[in-house]
Amino acid sequence: MLNCKKLIKDIKLNIKALASLVLIMSYPLMMIVVIGWFLIPHLMPYLREVVAFVFFTSVFIGLILVAKSVVLKKWVMIFSLWMLSVFAFVKLGFYYIFGAKLSSSSVFVFFETNYNEASEFISSYFDAKLIVLAFFSFIYPILYSCIIGFNLKKFYLSSFHLYSNKIKLLSVLLIFLSVIALQRRFKAESIVFILSKSIEEYKETKANIRKDLAQETNPNLSVIANKTDSQVGVVIIGEATSRWHMQLYGYNRETNPLLMEIKDELLVFNDVIAPNVMTIRSLEKALTLKCYEGFDVENNFSVVQLANQSDFETFWISNQEPVGYTESIPTIIGSAAKTKEFIATDDYSHTIYDENLLPRINSALKSKEGRKIIFVHLIGTHRVYSKRYPDEYSHFKGVNERTKYKTEYSKDKVNEYDNAIRYNDYVVREIIEQVRSMNENSFVVYFSDHGDDVFDTQDFVGHHGNKASKPMHDIPFLAWFSESYKLKNPRFDSISNNLDKPHALEDFIYGFSDLIDVDYKAYDSSRSIFNKDYKIKTRWIRNEIDYDKW
Ligand SMILES: [Zn+2]
Repeated sequence: MLNCKKLIKDIKLNIKALASLVLIMSYPLMMIVVIGWFLIPHLMPYLREVVAFVFFTSVFIGLILVAKSVVLKKWVMIFSLWMLSVFAFVKLGFYYIFGAKLSSSSVFVFFETNYNEASEFISSYFDAKLIVLAFFSFIYPILYSCIIGFNLKKFYLSSFHLYSNKIKLLSVLLIFLSVIALQRRFKAESIVFILSKSIEEYKETKANIRKDLAQETNPNLSVIANKTDSQVGVVIIGEATSRWHMQLYGYNRETNPLLMEIKDELLVFNDVIAPNVMTIRSLEKALTLKCYEGFDVENNFSVVQLANQSDFETFWISNQEPVGYTESIPTIIGSAAKTKEFIATDDYSHTIYDENLLPRINSALKSKEGRKIIFVHLIGTHRVYSKRYPDEYSHFKGVNERTKYKTEYSKDKVNEYDNAIRYNDYVVREIIEQVRSMNENSFVVYFSDHGDDVFDTQDFVGHHGNKASKPMHDIPFLAWFSESYKLKNPRFDSISNNLDKPHALEDFIYGFSDLIDVDYKAYDSSRSIFNKDYKIKTRWIRNEIDYDKW
């Protein structure tokens, strides 16, 4: 039975040790209180973060109290201090970079990337202020680990007498109540919950996708009619290329000298948007039947499977790593192709330029099959921009007047991004020329999964859901047809009427169906930008935002 008097006596006896323990463990909490005040945009979220962190800290203090021996207490204390410091740093860092709370969907991005990309992602946001934040977050646990580790005898815990069962019981109660409070009231502030939810969502998305989309054929897809004549199509899937930085779309720098040369031969669609600003979230819709209007995901299939079941040989040639610490979703979709080539498979993947795909595309084009679709997944203009192009493409210097936030840093980033776009221009044109030289019934279509905002509308570089802006949604979308293709498909003559119409990339599968001339259950000509029946629809982005009213 709990004897209150005895308990109070115990606490009184240890009040000094207890107070100093609380004080030591409260350093990360103080960081949230002080630095959070400046970084967290509104009062209520600020207070919630502070209170949630009080409970967090309580859980760890409880754990230290429960630990039996002084040695164990020492290790639990070091561990707890590090955990709390990391949590505080991640939370504050996230507020600093994105001006918003860490959420399960915002950490989702890390699961799509491999180690290299993730470290690039982090390093590209590491500026002086973040380094100062890291310093203050970690100097304390480093120092304390040393003090506790090397100076155990002098350490106050040796005089700790809190080993009575009552204190233990009280500690267990403290842990229990704090966990309950976090679970019930502060889920959205709990890093552990956010991470586990995000991992769960990601696994679920992947499992759904793998079940249906990784196989060559898909029972959900029933092709009604398709042609059998020889045809070659290349679908180029770009990466992080915004049309805001493309000369082809009116940018004030020569970022598309090679595509401009053949502009008259291209169908340049002027108003196409990505459904999301993250690769996996965008491509899981762009490359499948899935879209925001809630198409039954159970019956989903992909453009790769559509090509397979329309008697095409299919190739998936990618410069994005097939495996990270998780296999990425575009890789699963691509794995339905009959021939798969991933050139980025070693540690240096992130410096392999897209031109290394060209010989692979060329040999796919020259393979003997009469009907084939080649999907090309570029690394495109993904951060870190300066790693996306060889030295001779270091073309742009000085400040571009269009840059909204002009600093030395933004000048460099804009120049690097524009260089990468200019290099991407070369890659896309080169692919078109390869296809042209085959002199066949052929088409090329190019789009990007989403764009980047490079100081165009905000003081930010890159793409992220919490910072979503028009440059991240506005993507290039263009097509090229061979002479023989045009002759065989006179129905495309009227497509130039669609060039300025608003279109959503999530409906790419319908346009693709027209390009390869296949009919199937679920096909909808009014959603195909390559069809005269095309109708403008509400363009939903990132769950329930109407892009055209945004
Ligand atoms: Zn992307």
